[in-house]
Amino acid sequence: LLRRFLLLLLLAPSVFAQDKKVPAAQIDTAGLSKLHDAALKSDYAYQVTQHLTDNIGPRLSGSPQLVHAAEWLADEMRRIGLTVTLEKVMVPHWVRGQETAELVQFPDMTPNTTQKIVLTALGDSVATPAQGLTAEVVVVNSFDELTALGRDKVQGKIVLFHEVFDQRMAEQGDAREAYSQAVEFRGKGPSEAAKLGAVAALIRSVGGASFRLPHTGGTHYEKGTNKIPAAALAVEDADLLMRLAKQGSVRMHLVLTPQTLEDSLAYNVIGDLKGSEHPDEIVIVSGHLDSWDLGTGAIDDAAGVGIAMAAIRAIKDSGSQPKRTVRVIAWANEENGLRGGLAYAKDYASELPKHQAGLESDLGAGHPTGLFYDGDSSIPDLLDNVKKVLERSGAGNLQASEDTGADLIPSGVAGVPTFQPIHDARYYFNYHHTAADTLDKIVPQEMRDNVAAMAVMAKALADLDQKLPQKTKPLPKWMREILEEENAKKK
Ligand SMILES: [Zn+2]
Repeated sequence: LLRRFLLLLLLAPSVFAQDKKVPAAQIDTAGLSKLHDAALKSDYAYQVTQHLTDNIGPRLSGSPQLVHAAEWLADEMRRIGLTVTLEKVMVPHWVRGQETAELVQFPDMTPNTTQKIVLTALGDSVATPAQGLTAEVVVVNSFDELTALGRDKVQGKIVLFHEVFDQRMAEQGDAREAYSQAVEFRGKGPSEAAKLGAVAALIRSVGGASFRLPHTGGTHYEKGTNKIPAAALAVEDADLLMRLAKQGSVRMHLVLTPQTLEDSLAYNVIGDLKGSEHPDEIVIVSGHLDSWDLGTGAIDDAAGVGIAMAAIRAIKDSGSQPKRTVRVIAWANEENGLRGGLAYAKDYASELPKHQAGLESDLGAGHPTGLFYDGDSSIPDLLDNVKKVLERSGAGNLQASEDTGADLIPSGVAGVPTFQPIHDARYYFNYHHTAADTLDKIVPQEMRDNVAAMAVMAKALADLDQKLPQKTKPLPKWMREILEEENAKKK
Protein backbone atom coordinates (compact mmCIF):
# COMPACT_ATOMS: atom_id res chain seq x y z
CA LEU A 1 0.00 0.00 0.00
CA LEU A 2 2.82 2.38 0.90
CA ARG A 3 4.49 1.71 -2.41
CA ARG A 4 1.28 2.47 -4.25
CA PHE A 5 0.89 5.69 -2.27
CA LEU A 6 4.45 6.78 -3.12
CA LEU A 7 3.87 5.99 -6.73
CA LEU A 8 0.73 8.13 -6.69
CA LEU A 9 2.68 11.01 -5.15
CA LEU A 10 5.27 10.74 -7.88
CA LEU A 11 2.66 10.71 -10.59
CA ALA A 12 0.48 13.41 -9.08
CA PRO A 13 2.16 16.55 -10.51
CA SER A 14 2.14 15.20 -14.04
CA VAL A 15 -1.44 14.06 -13.65
CA PHE A 16 -2.44 17.56 -12.58
CA ALA A 17 -0.47 19.18 -15.38
CA GLN A 18 -2.14 16.98 -17.95
CA ASP A 19 -5.46 17.92 -16.48
CA LYS A 20 -5.27 21.36 -18.08
CA LYS A 21 -4.01 20.07 -21.38
CA VAL A 22 -6.31 18.85 -24.11
CA PRO A 23 -4.93 15.81 -25.87
CA ALA A 24 -3.32 16.46 -29.24
CA ALA A 25 -5.62 15.65 -32.12
CA GLN A 26 -4.61 12.68 -34.20
CA ILE A 27 -3.86 13.82 -37.73
CA ASP A 28 -2.33 12.36 -40.86
CA THR A 29 1.17 13.71 -40.25
CA ALA A 30 2.63 11.82 -43.21
CA GLY A 31 0.09 13.35 -45.57
CA LEU A 32 0.60 16.83 -44.13
CA SER A 33 4.38 16.49 -44.37
CA LYS A 34 4.04 15.60 -48.04
CA LEU A 35 1.77 18.61 -48.60
CA HIS A 36 4.25 20.80 -46.73
CA ASP A 37 7.21 19.73 -48.85
CA ALA A 38 5.29 20.05 -52.12
CA ALA A 39 4.15 23.58 -51.16
CA LEU A 40 7.78 24.52 -50.48
CA LYS A 41 8.58 23.86 -54.12
CA SER A 42 5.72 25.88 -55.61
CA ASP A 43 6.29 29.22 -57.32
CA TYR A 44 2.59 29.80 -57.82
CA ALA A 45 2.27 32.40 -55.03
CA TYR A 46 4.99 34.45 -56.66
CA GLN A 47 3.38 34.16 -60.10
CA VAL A 48 0.00 35.38 -58.81
CA THR A 49 1.70 38.22 -56.93
CA GLN A 50 3.70 39.18 -60.00
CA HIS A 51 0.61 39.42 -62.17
CA LEU A 52 -1.31 41.45 -59.59
CA THR A 53 1.56 43.91 -59.16
CA ASP A 54 3.47 44.10 -62.45
CA ASN A 55 0.56 43.64 -64.84
CA ILE A 56 -2.37 45.10 -62.95
CA GLY A 57 -0.55 47.52 -60.66
CA PRO A 58 -1.93 49.61 -57.78
CA ARG A 59 -5.41 48.46 -56.73
CA LEU A 60 -6.91 51.25 -54.69
CA SER A 61 -10.58 50.80 -53.81
CA GLY A 62 -12.74 52.40 -56.47
CA SER A 63 -10.06 52.03 -59.16
CA PRO A 64 -10.60 50.13 -62.41
CA GLN A 65 -7.48 48.10 -61.52
CA LEU A 66 -9.18 46.64 -58.45
CA VAL A 67 -12.11 45.43 -60.57
CA HIS A 68 -9.70 44.10 -63.20
CA ALA A 69 -7.77 42.28 -60.48
CA ALA A 70 -10.98 40.66 -59.20
CA GLU A 71 -11.94 39.49 -62.69
CA TRP A 72 -8.47 38.14 -63.40
CA LEU A 73 -8.31 36.35 -60.06
CA ALA A 74 -11.78 34.82 -60.52
CA ASP A 75 -10.62 33.39 -63.87
CA GLU A 76 -7.47 32.11 -62.22
CA MET A 77 -9.49 30.40 -59.46
CA ARG A 78 -11.67 28.70 -62.11
CA ARG A 79 -8.56 27.65 -64.00
CA ILE A 80 -7.16 25.84 -60.95
CA GLY A 81 -10.48 24.10 -60.42
CA LEU A 82 -12.27 26.09 -57.72
CA THR A 83 -15.94 27.03 -57.59
CA VAL A 84 -16.05 30.82 -57.75
CA THR A 85 -18.39 33.35 -56.16
CA LEU A 86 -18.03 37.08 -56.71
CA GLU A 87 -19.50 38.74 -53.64
CA LYS A 88 -20.51 42.31 -54.38
CA VAL A 89 -19.10 44.94 -52.01
CA MET A 90 -19.63 48.69 -52.23
CA VAL A 91 -16.27 50.28 -51.40
CA PRO A 92 -15.14 53.84 -50.69
CA HIS A 93 -13.85 55.71 -53.71
CA TRP A 94 -11.20 58.16 -52.60
CA VAL A 95 -8.79 59.54 -55.21
CA ARG A 96 -5.49 61.24 -54.54
CA GLY A 97 -5.01 64.59 -56.21
CA GLN A 98 -2.11 66.98 -56.19
CA GLU A 99 0.03 66.88 -53.08
CA THR A 100 2.75 69.50 -52.69
CA ALA A 101 4.14 71.55 -49.88
CA GLU A 102 6.91 74.05 -49.29
CA LEU A 103 8.17 76.14 -46.44
CA VAL A 104 7.59 79.80 -47.24
CA GLN A 105 9.00 81.20 -44.01
CA PHE A 106 11.61 79.83 -41.59
CA PRO A 107 14.56 81.16 -39.56
CA ASP A 108 17.34 82.70 -41.70
CA MET A 109 15.75 81.74 -45.00
CA THR A 110 17.21 83.21 -48.16
CA PRO A 111 14.78 85.92 -49.30
CA ASN A 112 12.37 84.96 -52.07
CA THR A 113 13.01 81.22 -51.81
CA THR A 114 11.05 78.27 -50.54
CA GLN A 115 12.05 74.86 -49.28
CA LYS A 116 10.36 71.76 -50.66
CA ILE A 117 8.65 69.32 -48.28
CA VAL A 118 7.97 65.73 -49.35
CA LEU A 119 4.59 64.42 -48.26
CA THR A 120 1.60 62.36 -49.31
CA ALA A 121 -2.08 62.73 -48.45
CA LEU A 122 -3.57 60.30 -45.94
CA GLY A 123 -6.37 58.13 -47.27
CA ASP A 124 -9.80 59.73 -46.81
CA SER A 125 -8.21 63.15 -46.34
CA VAL A 126 -10.27 66.13 -47.41
CA ALA A 127 -8.73 68.76 -49.69
CA THR A 128 -7.21 72.16 -49.04
CA PRO A 129 -8.57 75.00 -51.16
CA ALA A 130 -7.43 74.47 -54.78
CA GLN A 131 -4.75 77.16 -54.44
CA GLY A 132 -3.64 75.65 -51.12
CA LEU A 133 -3.41 77.11 -47.65
CA THR A 134 -0.56 78.81 -45.84
CA ALA A 135 -0.15 78.62 -42.08
CA GLU A 136 2.35 78.38 -39.29
CA VAL A 137 3.41 74.87 -38.26
CA VAL A 138 3.37 73.74 -34.64
CA VAL A 139 5.17 70.53 -33.75
CA VAL A 140 4.02 68.17 -30.96
CA ASN A 141 5.26 64.78 -29.84
CA SER A 142 2.11 63.55 -28.14
CA PHE A 143 -1.58 64.22 -27.67
CA ASP A 144 -0.75 65.55 -24.19
CA GLU A 145 1.55 68.17 -25.72
CA LEU A 146 -1.21 69.16 -28.10
CA THR A 147 -3.70 69.54 -25.26
CA ALA A 148 -1.14 71.55 -23.25
CA LEU A 149 -0.74 74.02 -26.15
CA GLY A 150 -4.46 74.68 -26.08
CA ARG A 151 -6.67 76.40 -28.58
CA ASP A 152 -4.71 79.70 -28.38
CA LYS A 153 -1.58 78.18 -29.88
CA VAL A 154 -3.25 75.72 -32.27
CA GLN A 155 -6.09 77.71 -33.85
CA GLY A 156 -5.35 78.53 -37.50
CA LYS A 157 -2.12 76.47 -37.49
CA ILE A 158 -0.91 73.31 -39.15
CA VAL A 159 -0.15 70.66 -36.49
CA LEU A 160 2.69 68.19 -37.07
CA PHE A 161 2.61 65.07 -34.89
CA HIS A 162 6.28 64.12 -34.64
CA GLU A 163 5.87 60.59 -33.36
CA VAL A 164 8.91 58.45 -34.20
CA PHE A 165 8.31 54.91 -35.45
CA ASP A 166 10.33 52.62 -33.17
CA GLN A 167 12.51 50.83 -35.71
CA ARG A 168 14.56 49.19 -32.93
CA MET A 169 11.43 47.59 -31.58
CA ALA A 170 10.53 46.42 -35.08
CA GLU A 171 13.98 44.94 -35.63
CA GLN A 172 13.77 43.08 -32.35
CA GLY A 173 10.72 41.28 -33.65
CA ASP A 174 7.82 43.42 -32.48
CA ALA A 175 7.04 45.34 -35.65
CA ARG A 176 3.30 45.17 -35.08
CA GLU A 177 3.61 46.86 -31.69
CA ALA A 178 5.93 49.54 -33.12
CA TYR A 179 3.36 50.15 -35.85
CA SER A 180 0.39 50.31 -33.53
CA GLN A 181 2.13 52.86 -31.27
CA ALA A 182 2.83 55.25 -34.14
CA VAL A 183 -0.25 54.67 -36.25
CA GLU A 184 -2.46 56.09 -33.52
CA PHE A 185 -1.46 59.57 -34.69
CA ARG A 186 -2.36 58.77 -38.31
CA GLY A 187 -5.81 57.65 -37.24
CA LYS A 188 -6.74 60.16 -34.53
CA GLY A 189 -4.30 63.04 -35.10
CA PRO A 190 -6.31 65.07 -37.62
CA SER A 191 -9.48 65.08 -35.52
CA GLU A 192 -7.61 65.88 -32.31
CA ALA A 193 -5.91 68.83 -34.04
CA ALA A 194 -9.22 69.96 -35.55
CA LYS A 195 -10.85 70.07 -32.12
CA LEU A 196 -8.42 72.87 -31.20
CA GLY A 197 -8.98 74.77 -34.45
CA ALA A 198 -6.04 73.54 -36.56
CA VAL A 199 -6.40 74.04 -40.35
CA ALA A 200 -4.42 70.92 -41.35
CA ALA A 201 -2.65 67.99 -39.70
CA LEU A 202 0.60 66.31 -40.61
CA ILE A 203 2.28 63.20 -39.24
CA ARG A 204 5.80 61.86 -39.42
CA SER A 205 5.48 58.81 -41.70
CA VAL A 206 4.68 55.59 -39.87
CA GLY A 207 7.55 53.35 -40.94
CA GLY A 208 11.26 52.60 -40.91
CA ALA A 209 14.18 53.36 -43.27
CA SER A 210 12.95 56.34 -45.16
CA PHE A 211 14.95 57.38 -48.26
CA ARG A 212 12.63 60.38 -48.19
CA LEU A 213 9.60 58.20 -48.93
CA PRO A 214 6.32 59.25 -47.38
CA HIS A 215 4.02 56.46 -46.15
CA THR A 216 0.31 56.88 -46.79
CA GLY A 217 -2.47 55.05 -44.93
CA GLY A 218 -6.01 55.75 -43.86
CA THR A 219 -6.95 58.38 -41.33
CA HIS A 220 -10.19 58.33 -39.38
CA TYR A 221 -12.19 61.49 -38.82
CA GLU A 222 -14.08 61.40 -35.57
CA LYS A 223 -17.82 61.84 -35.96
CA GLY A 224 -18.93 65.40 -35.34
CA THR A 225 -15.48 67.00 -35.61
CA ASN A 226 -14.37 69.31 -38.39
CA LYS A 227 -12.55 67.43 -41.18
CA ILE A 228 -9.17 69.02 -41.95
CA PRO A 229 -6.66 68.06 -44.67
CA ALA A 230 -4.14 65.45 -43.53
CA ALA A 231 -0.82 64.20 -44.89
CA ALA A 232 2.23 62.16 -43.94
CA LEU A 233 5.69 63.72 -44.27
CA ALA A 234 8.77 61.79 -45.26
CA VAL A 235 10.75 61.14 -42.07
CA GLU A 236 13.52 63.52 -43.19
CA ASP A 237 11.06 66.35 -43.76
CA ALA A 238 9.29 65.82 -40.46
CA ASP A 239 12.64 65.96 -38.67
CA LEU A 240 13.62 69.11 -40.59
CA LEU A 241 10.39 70.81 -39.54
CA MET A 242 10.92 69.82 -35.94
CA ARG A 243 14.44 71.32 -35.94
CA LEU A 244 13.43 74.55 -37.66
CA ALA A 245 10.37 75.05 -35.46
CA LYS A 246 12.66 74.98 -32.42
CA GLN A 247 14.53 77.98 -33.90
CA GLY A 248 11.51 80.13 -34.66
CA SER A 249 8.40 80.59 -36.74
CA VAL A 250 7.92 78.22 -39.69
CA ARG A 251 5.14 78.72 -42.24
CA MET A 252 4.09 76.16 -44.83
CA HIS A 253 2.15 76.39 -48.06
CA LEU A 254 0.19 73.15 -48.47
CA VAL A 255 -1.78 71.89 -51.47
CA LEU A 256 -3.79 68.67 -51.20
CA THR A 257 -6.60 68.03 -53.66
CA PRO A 258 -7.95 64.53 -52.97
CA GLN A 259 -11.62 63.80 -53.58
CA THR A 260 -14.12 61.38 -52.14
CA LEU A 261 -16.45 60.18 -54.89
CA GLU A 262 -19.54 57.98 -54.76
CA ASP A 263 -19.01 54.46 -53.37
CA SER A 264 -17.98 52.04 -56.07
CA LEU A 265 -18.66 48.36 -56.85
CA ALA A 266 -15.93 45.84 -56.01
CA TYR A 267 -15.82 42.15 -55.08
CA ASN A 268 -14.70 39.69 -52.45
CA VAL A 269 -13.38 37.01 -54.79
CA ILE A 270 -14.23 33.63 -53.27
CA GLY A 271 -13.07 30.21 -54.49
CA ASP A 272 -14.17 26.93 -52.91
CA LEU A 273 -12.51 23.54 -52.80
CA LYS A 274 -15.38 21.40 -51.63
CA GLY A 275 -15.08 19.26 -48.51
CA SER A 276 -15.78 15.53 -48.74
CA GLU A 277 -17.47 15.04 -45.35
CA HIS A 278 -18.59 18.46 -44.08
CA PRO A 279 -18.89 20.64 -47.19
CA ASP A 280 -20.90 23.24 -45.24
CA GLU A 281 -18.05 23.73 -42.74
CA ILE A 282 -15.45 26.21 -43.95
CA VAL A 283 -11.74 26.93 -43.51
CA ILE A 284 -10.82 30.30 -45.02
CA VAL A 285 -7.39 31.12 -46.45
CA SER A 286 -7.09 34.76 -47.50
CA GLY A 287 -5.32 38.01 -48.26
CA HIS A 288 -6.63 41.38 -49.41
CA LEU A 289 -6.84 42.38 -53.05
CA ASP A 290 -6.95 46.16 -52.64
CA SER A 291 -3.81 48.22 -52.03
CA TRP A 292 -2.72 51.80 -51.67
CA ASP A 293 -1.97 53.67 -54.86
CA LEU A 294 1.64 54.81 -54.41
CA GLY A 295 3.33 51.47 -55.10
CA THR A 296 1.98 48.28 -56.66
CA GLY A 297 0.90 46.75 -53.34
CA ALA A 298 3.23 43.73 -53.46
CA ILE A 299 3.94 43.10 -49.78
CA ASP A 300 0.60 44.74 -48.87
CA ASP A 301 -1.09 42.59 -49.90
CA ALA A 302 -0.80 40.91 -53.30
CA ALA A 303 1.57 38.60 -51.41
CA GLY A 304 -1.22 37.52 -49.08
CA VAL A 305 -3.52 36.76 -52.01
CA GLY A 306 -0.71 34.84 -53.73
CA ILE A 307 0.08 32.83 -50.59
CA ALA A 308 -3.59 31.93 -50.03
CA MET A 309 -4.05 30.96 -53.70
CA ALA A 310 -0.94 28.78 -53.64
CA ALA A 311 -2.01 27.18 -50.35
CA ILE A 312 -5.41 26.10 -51.67
CA ARG A 313 -3.84 24.96 -54.94
CA ALA A 314 -1.28 22.85 -53.07
CA ILE A 315 -4.11 21.22 -51.10
CA LYS A 316 -6.02 20.51 -54.30
CA ASP A 317 -2.95 19.15 -56.09
CA SER A 318 -2.13 16.86 -53.15
CA GLY A 319 -5.00 14.67 -54.32
CA SER A 320 -6.33 14.27 -50.77
CA GLN A 321 -9.71 16.00 -50.71
CA PRO A 322 -10.18 18.02 -47.49
CA LYS A 323 -13.02 16.86 -45.24
CA ARG A 324 -14.27 20.41 -44.76
CA THR A 325 -14.46 23.00 -47.55
CA VAL A 326 -11.33 25.10 -47.98
CA ARG A 327 -12.26 28.57 -49.22
CA VAL A 328 -9.83 31.13 -50.61
CA ILE A 329 -10.92 34.77 -50.29
CA ALA A 330 -9.31 37.86 -51.82
CA TRP A 331 -10.87 40.62 -49.73
CA ALA A 332 -12.20 43.65 -51.56
CA ASN A 333 -11.32 46.55 -49.28
CA GLU A 334 -8.99 46.34 -46.31
CA GLU A 335 -7.05 49.58 -46.50
CA ASN A 336 -9.73 52.23 -46.25
CA GLY A 337 -12.95 50.84 -44.91
CA LEU A 338 -12.73 47.09 -44.25
CA ARG A 339 -15.89 46.78 -46.31
CA GLY A 340 -14.87 43.35 -47.65
CA GLY A 341 -14.60 41.71 -44.24
CA LEU A 342 -17.74 43.48 -43.01
CA ALA A 343 -19.78 42.42 -46.05
CA TYR A 344 -18.70 38.79 -45.65
CA ALA A 345 -19.64 38.64 -41.96
CA LYS A 346 -23.02 40.10 -42.87
CA ASP A 347 -23.79 38.10 -46.04
CA TYR A 348 -22.60 34.81 -44.52
CA ALA A 349 -23.80 35.51 -40.96
CA SER A 350 -25.98 32.41 -40.75
CA GLU A 351 -23.06 30.22 -41.91
CA LEU A 352 -20.38 31.59 -39.57
CA PRO A 353 -21.21 29.18 -36.72
CA LYS A 354 -20.20 26.43 -39.16
CA HIS A 355 -16.88 28.05 -40.04
CA GLN A 356 -14.01 26.03 -38.63
CA ALA A 357 -11.43 28.84 -38.91
CA GLY A 358 -10.20 31.82 -40.91
CA LEU A 359 -6.58 32.41 -41.96
CA GLU A 360 -5.26 35.65 -43.42
CA SER A 361 -1.79 36.67 -44.55
CA ASP A 362 -1.39 40.45 -44.36
CA LEU A 363 2.06 41.33 -43.09
CA GLY A 364 4.20 40.70 -46.14
CA ALA A 365 5.90 37.51 -47.26
CA GLY A 366 8.76 37.23 -44.76
CA HIS A 367 9.59 33.81 -43.30
CA PRO A 368 6.95 32.74 -40.77
CA THR A 369 8.01 31.27 -37.42
CA GLY A 370 4.50 29.95 -36.87
CA LEU A 371 0.99 31.28 -36.69
CA PHE A 372 -0.83 33.68 -34.42
CA TYR A 373 -4.23 32.45 -33.35
CA ASP A 374 -7.23 34.17 -31.82
CA GLY A 375 -9.56 31.59 -30.35
CA ASP A 376 -9.86 29.03 -27.59
CA SER A 377 -6.75 28.60 -25.43
CA SER A 378 -6.81 24.85 -26.08
CA ILE A 379 -5.78 25.40 -29.72
CA PRO A 380 -1.98 24.97 -29.36
CA ASP A 381 -2.31 21.70 -27.41
CA LEU A 382 -4.99 20.39 -29.73
CA LEU A 383 -2.83 21.18 -32.76
CA ASP A 384 0.39 19.82 -31.27
CA ASN A 385 0.87 17.30 -34.09
CA VAL A 386 0.31 20.02 -36.71
CA LYS A 387 3.01 22.12 -35.04
CA LYS A 388 5.41 19.22 -35.44
CA VAL A 389 4.79 19.20 -39.21
CA LEU A 390 5.16 23.00 -39.40
CA GLU A 391 8.50 22.71 -37.60
CA ARG A 392 9.89 21.18 -40.81
CA SER A 393 10.29 24.75 -42.08
CA GLY A 394 10.68 26.48 -38.72
CA ALA A 395 7.04 27.54 -38.49
CA GLY A 396 5.98 25.50 -35.46
CA ASN A 397 5.09 28.33 -33.08
CA LEU A 398 1.41 28.85 -32.24
CA GLN A 399 1.00 32.11 -30.37
CA ALA A 400 -2.11 33.79 -29.01
CA SER A 401 -2.78 37.26 -30.43
CA GLU A 402 -5.69 39.62 -30.86
CA ASP A 403 -4.34 40.70 -34.24
CA THR A 404 -4.87 37.95 -36.79
CA GLY A 405 -5.75 39.86 -39.95
CA ALA A 406 -8.06 42.86 -40.19
CA ASP A 407 -10.44 41.36 -42.76
CA LEU A 408 -11.22 38.52 -40.36
CA ILE A 409 -12.12 40.79 -37.44
CA PRO A 410 -15.87 40.90 -38.26
CA SER A 411 -16.04 37.09 -38.58
CA GLY A 412 -13.89 36.78 -35.45
CA VAL A 413 -16.32 38.97 -33.53
CA ALA A 414 -19.03 36.50 -34.54
CA GLY A 415 -16.97 33.70 -33.01
CA VAL A 416 -14.83 32.24 -35.80
CA PRO A 417 -11.28 31.29 -34.63
CA THR A 418 -8.72 33.16 -36.73
CA PHE A 419 -5.06 32.66 -37.65
CA GLN A 420 -2.30 34.71 -39.27
CA PRO A 421 1.30 33.71 -40.09
CA ILE A 422 3.93 35.14 -37.71
CA HIS A 423 5.88 36.80 -40.51
CA ASP A 424 9.39 38.14 -40.23
CA ALA A 425 8.27 41.78 -40.38
CA ARG A 426 11.49 43.44 -39.27
CA TYR A 427 11.75 45.39 -42.54
CA TYR A 428 8.12 45.28 -43.66
CA PHE A 429 7.40 48.80 -42.43
CA ASN A 430 10.30 50.23 -44.45
CA TYR A 431 8.17 49.82 -47.57
CA HIS A 432 4.62 49.57 -46.21
CA HIS A 433 2.21 52.01 -47.93
CA THR A 434 5.00 53.65 -49.96
CA ALA A 435 5.92 53.90 -53.64
CA ALA A 436 8.57 51.24 -52.90
CA ASP A 437 6.05 48.48 -52.12
CA THR A 438 6.91 46.54 -55.26
CA LEU A 439 7.51 42.91 -56.25
CA ASP A 440 11.29 42.97 -55.75
CA LYS A 441 10.80 43.23 -51.96
CA ILE A 442 9.56 39.64 -51.88
CA VAL A 443 12.04 36.81 -51.30
CA PRO A 444 10.66 33.82 -53.24
CA GLN A 445 11.88 31.17 -50.78
CA GLU A 446 10.39 32.97 -47.81
CA MET A 447 7.13 33.31 -49.69
CA ARG A 448 7.12 29.52 -50.24
CA ASP A 449 7.65 29.04 -46.48
CA ASN A 450 4.40 30.95 -45.99
CA VAL A 451 2.55 28.82 -48.53
CA ALA A 452 3.68 25.66 -46.74
CA ALA A 453 2.55 26.98 -43.34
CA MET A 454 -0.82 28.14 -44.61
CA ALA A 455 -1.49 25.00 -46.65
CA VAL A 456 -0.62 22.65 -43.77
CA MET A 457 -2.65 24.56 -41.18
CA ALA A 458 -5.66 24.90 -43.48
CA LYS A 459 -5.63 21.22 -44.47
CA ALA A 460 -5.20 20.12 -40.85
CA LEU A 461 -8.09 22.29 -39.71
CA ALA A 462 -10.22 21.03 -42.58
CA ASP A 463 -9.53 17.39 -41.68
CA LEU A 464 -9.62 17.69 -37.88
CA ASP A 465 -12.10 15.35 -36.14
CA GLN A 466 -13.08 18.20 -33.82
CA LYS A 467 -14.81 21.43 -34.60
CA LEU A 468 -12.84 24.23 -32.90
CA PRO A 469 -14.81 25.97 -30.13
CA GLN A 470 -16.17 29.40 -31.07
CA LYS A 471 -16.44 32.39 -28.77
CA THR A 472 -18.12 35.64 -29.73
CA LYS A 473 -16.49 38.94 -28.81
CA PRO A 474 -17.86 42.37 -28.00
CA LEU A 475 -18.28 44.58 -31.07
CA PRO A 476 -15.31 47.01 -31.31
CA LYS A 477 -16.28 50.68 -31.17
CA TRP A 478 -15.18 51.43 -34.74
CA MET A 479 -17.25 48.54 -36.07
CA ARG A 480 -20.30 49.70 -34.18
CA GLU A 481 -19.84 53.18 -35.69
CA ILE A 482 -19.59 51.81 -39.23
CA LEU A 483 -22.73 49.71 -38.79
CA GLU A 484 -24.61 52.67 -37.29
CA GLU A 485 -23.56 54.84 -40.22
CA GLU A 486 -24.77 52.22 -42.69
CA ASN A 487 -28.12 51.97 -40.94
CA ALA A 488 -28.45 55.76 -40.91
CA LYS A 489 -27.82 55.85 -44.68
CA LYS A 490 -30.58 53.35 -45.30
CA LYS A 491 -33.11 55.52 -43.39
ZN1 LIG B 1 -2.65 45.00 -45.70
